[in-house]
Amino acid sequence: MPGWDATGADAILAPMSETDPRPDPRLALIGLYRALADHTAVECATGCKVPFNCCHPAYCQMAIGWAQAKWGVALEPTGHPRLPLLGPQGCIAQPHLRPMCSVHACCMAELGEKPGHPEWTARYKELLAAIEAIENPKDQVAFHPVAGGLDKAKGPG
Ligand code: SF4
Ligand code: SF4
Repeated sequence: MPGWDATGADAILAPMSETDPRPDPRLALIGLYRALADHTAVECATGCKVPFNCCHPAYCQMAIGWAQAKWGVALEPTGHPRLPLLGPQGCIAQPHLRPMCSVHACCMAELGEKPGHPEWTARYKELLAAIEAIENPKDQVAFHPVAGGLDKAKGPG
């Protein structure tokens, strides 16, 4: 599988600066979520029975709220009739702006592994563990519309 076999999660962690070798947590999150989204995208591209079946308007709302609160990014709704952040080429939010979506993989959620592919599963777990060492993707639930997050989110109306 392209893009992941030669590097560990550590290779994604950019140093804070030339003089401070500690990983910059925000740059690390951007890289780690991107790597995990790319990793699961291969799954979705080859094994998805119903594309975007995992998407839900509430997850878009959570992403909108999270992006604004944590990253200062205003995600503009696309006009899609059901999913505010779904555009013609897929989701418009960068992976770090939609943590719970980025870490979701059907096989992991349903089975806890990709059957017959221990290396894929190990890589998934490595990237998720590196993310969770910095933040909990589930913190995004605070912006769930039913959980009272809509007042925090810049909702699309
Ligand atoms: S996460 Fe599951 S339902 Fe969603 S696109 Fe991927 S394979 Fe399909
Ligand atoms: S934020 Fe993106 S990936 Fe998540 S549910 Fe909405 S369209 Fe789907």
